[in-house]
Amino acid sequence: MKIDFNKNKGLVPVIIQDSRTFQVLMLGYMNEEAFEKTEKEGVVTFFSRSKNRLWTKGEESGHFLKVKNISIDCDQDTILIKAVPTDTVCHTGSFSCFGEKKTKGFLYELEAKIGERIDHKAEDSYTYSLYQRGINKMAQKVGEEAVELVIEAKDSNDNLFKNEAADLLYHILILLKAKGFTLEDIEGVLRNRDR
Ligand code: AMP
Ligand code: ZN
Ligand code: ZN
Ligand code: ZN
Repeated sequence: MKIDFNKNKGLVPVIIQDSRTFQVLMLGYMNEEAFEKTEKEGVVTFFSRSKNRLWTKGEESGHFLKVKNISIDCDQDTILIKAVPTDTVCHTGSFSCFGEKKTKGFLYELEAKIGERIDHKAEDSYTYSLYQRGINKMAQKVGEEAVELVIEAKDSNDNLFKNEAADLLYHILILLKAKGFTLEDIEGVLRNRDR
């Protein structure tokens, strides 16, 4: 990787992005030594302009940034690192230097809500009442919604089709929870196929 360290007194700005959600976590600077250490160790080390020395993010807090991917911008003077933070990133205690943690999207929020309904035995909830009827019933519901989706796929009513797709996804989330798996597990399976 050819990086231009000469433009800015030996320092290059480095954007740190969460490799899972693409949330921007922080910005720091690296000199060539910091970059080489980061590449070698797989954990982000900056050059701190205030400390005037190499600074491994997490050296005091224990909140490290594990490197997943490194890329360089079009004119080789800015680095983008996709990383997984082991804990909060900002010294203020906030998840990122640019605000609180982003979720991975609405389906993950829905998954969390379903989990909460089930874990708290919410008596007035359809989710929990279906859960109580057992795995076979939950699996059967997934089958029913899949069949309804198939039927709507043959017709031309977009709205009904989208609603059955939503029903199916929702019931799959319940079944996953009941089987002890998460959306992330399934995402992992799909991700591993995508090679
Ligand atoms: P750490 O590298 O997490 O052990 O933090 C060591 C010191 O670096 C802290 O006391 C802060 O002064 C500073 N620091 C930590 N995290 C950040 C950050 N995200 N942005 C700027 N400064 C930080
Ligand atoms: Zn550039
Ligand atoms: Zn910060
Ligand atoms: Zn349906």
